[in-house]
Amino acid sequence: MTSNPGAASLGKVWFVGAGPGDPELITVKGQKLLSQAGAVLFAGSLVDRAATLYAPAGCEIRDSKDMTLEEMTAWLIEQTSKHATVVRLQTGDPGLYGALIEMARPLTAAGIEWAVVPGVSSAMASMAAAGESMTLPEVTQSVIFTRVEGRTPMPEGEDLASLAAHRTTLCIFLSITLMYKVEAALRAAGWPEDAPMLVVHKASWPGEEKILRGTLADIKQRCREAGVASQAMIVASPTLGALHWESLVRSKLYDPTFTHRFRKASA
Ligand code: SAH
Repeated sequence: MTSNPGAASLGKVWFVGAGPGDPELITVKGQKLLSQAGAVLFAGSLVDRAATLYAPAGCEIRDSKDMTLEEMTAWLIEQTSKHATVVRLQTGDPGLYGALIEMARPLTAAGIEWAVVPGVSSAMASMAAAGESMTLPEVTQSVIFTRVEGRTPMPEGEDLASLAAHRTTLCIFLSITLMYKVEAALRAAGWPEDAPMLVVHKASWPGEEKILRGTLADIKQRCREAGVASQAMIVASPTLGALHWESLVRSKLYDPTFTHRFRKASA
């Protein structure tokens, strides 16, 4: 039936989101796949604990930090000839800054099946750590996941100043060493000096998480004082600090005067 009879015996590659760092924040499905894996290729220092905790004895576990993309895909392809389940373990969610498509294309070209298991992104974990909400009624109903330009150029129209003009929640990845660019962009978009900002270093990492709060005016200094210069999420949002606001617009979903599919208004 098939023109490639060997293909049926090849294993499948699973791109698994390991979550933000706490090994308990991997999904049940991700953990299950790891426990069945014959080989695991993990991305750097952030997710090694999940790999070593959940992978079975005898599983081939390899850190990808010294490998090129070509070497990684060659390794994954080679492992599928030996194992039914091969896991590529990535921080947070594999679809965010994870080179997912670059790795998947050669697999598809080689006739290897692959699938993605989503993960808890560090953006979610950072807001959770701080007890903050990404959205609030009549404050902002949108979230932008972005970064500032480093060696990877930003596509036209996506410079932070343009995005910040929307006054939504901004979760800024990969930019902690470029805080001066973040600040300049927010100022260019008219954010006031007292706009609240949040930086979370190693969100969810047991014993290592740092939550820094400040304003556009002082957040860089706060980071310097705390020695935070890597593995950090920057959040700028009009929702920050809402726990302590004097008044808040209520969410319609839980409003007693609001009828919806599951509940009739009581007033
Ligand atoms: N796919 C990942 C993002 C990878 S890009 C995700 O969904 O979270 C790497 C960037 O993610 C880092 O520069 C940092 O901005 C952020 N990051 C990853 N893990 C983090 C953590 N535990 N705490 C805070 N930021 C983190």
